[in-house]
Amino acid sequence: MDENLRVVHDGAVLVEGDRIVAVDKADRLKSEAKADSIIDARDCFVLPGLICGHTHLYGIALRGSGMRVEPPSDFLQILQRVWWPLDERLENDAAYASALAACMEMALTGTTCFADTYSAPNGIDGSLDAIARAVNEVGLRGMISFEATERRSREEGVRGLRENERFLSVSPVGRVMGMVSIHASFTVTDDLVGKGVEIAERFGCPITIHVSEGPNDVYHNIERYGMRTVERLERLGLLSPRAVLAHCVHLTSREISIIARTGASVAHNPMSNMLNAVGVAPVPEMLRSGVNVCLGNDGYVFDAFENIRAAFLVHKVHRRDPTIISAREVLEMATNRAARSYGLKDLGSLAAGKLADVVVVRPRVMAAPYSGDPYSYVINGLRGSDVKAVMVGGELIVREGRLLKVDQREAESRVLRSIQTLWERLGEGPHHAVEPLRGGV
Ligand SMILES: [Zn+2]
Repeated sequence: MDENLRVVHDGAVLVEGDRIVAVDKADRLKSEAKADSIIDARDCFVLPGLICGHTHLYGIALRGSGMRVEPPSDFLQILQRVWWPLDERLENDAAYASALAACMEMALTGTTCFADTYSAPNGIDGSLDAIARAVNEVGLRGMISFEATERRSREEGVRGLRENERFLSVSPVGRVMGMVSIHASFTVTDDLVGKGVEIAERFGCPITIHVSEGPNDVYHNIERYGMRTVERLERLGLLSPRAVLAHCVHLTSREISIIARTGASVAHNPMSNMLNAVGVAPVPEMLRSGVNVCLGNDGYVFDAFENIRAAFLVHKVHRRDPTIISAREVLEMATNRAARSYGLKDLGSLAAGKLADVVVVRPRVMAAPYSGDPYSYVINGLRGSDVKAVMVGGELIVREGRLLKVDQREAESRVLRSIQTLWERLGEGPHHAVEPLRGGV
């Protein structure tokens, strides 16, 4: 995944401190350098650490939950009946526990860096410190943010942005950096978007927002502002190379060309889009138009290989065209393109001078020589449980498929206690439908 997309067979990666010093044939590196320690990666794929371009770590708390809700029949109802009742009951303890669980799962399955958006209208202050603590405990790298929204009140939106601002002024905390997050254009005023853009520019950090995930976002902007979502965001000055637009399922070709022209990136979340039945994002058109697209999990399935495979498959079946997207393009969305989305110049590829975020993967059964098309093998033949070793910034955090920095069993028992309490809180309150745009927005 370096600039020339080199594939080195029988290769080795030489690491010194937190950086990669050389990537070359193993024989050549062995004769030139004497390593203090060697990770045996024979018969393995060695990849740059996978980067998740959009997630909600707290989404892992929903796994297997028994929320007693009337089944939602569209995307807005999914937010109103599932996600919003959940986030209204989140406190910092649950923020920490869900982040810990999600980070353990991502580390074990090959993700070394992620961009997270957290939401908890009743637990805003200090939430990002709690999440950063969990990320650093596992040893991952993360960009984290609080999702500012005015869905209940204007004041809440300002407090959300303030939490981002506070964390940005103290980050990086270990390997964790801050960024700015705004929920979606149908829950925020022009004023809040402007404030978010100003903070991102002042700190020189990324800004992220959900864009046209469901049709309601498009309808809202047409009804209120007489324009589509991307057109409104361009008018508000949000679109720039520091912007990452999550989803972008319902776009016109004009909107795609606006995104391409402004240099904003798009985070594609195929598995979440399938789960929420919102549609298929026009990723092939975006790629052909020069839009930088990265891959996210949206807080649903945290195994990067599953998300990679979904992105590889969904566009083929949707268009009934097996040539519509290639294995290499999809792997780039989870590596160098994801790094570019967030301005992470030192990540996303294995090359001298880059940070040593490295993943070693070996399929359970080697069914074919690797000498053919390695992209095809990675996309079609690997899964997260095949990950053997994971290095972040030159530090091994997974070896022989086990976490090295945390005691997984002990951490799991803490997670379970916290999520159990959260579920009890969820069972107590009435499951009300929150109208978007309440409070005069
Ligand atoms: Zn999302």
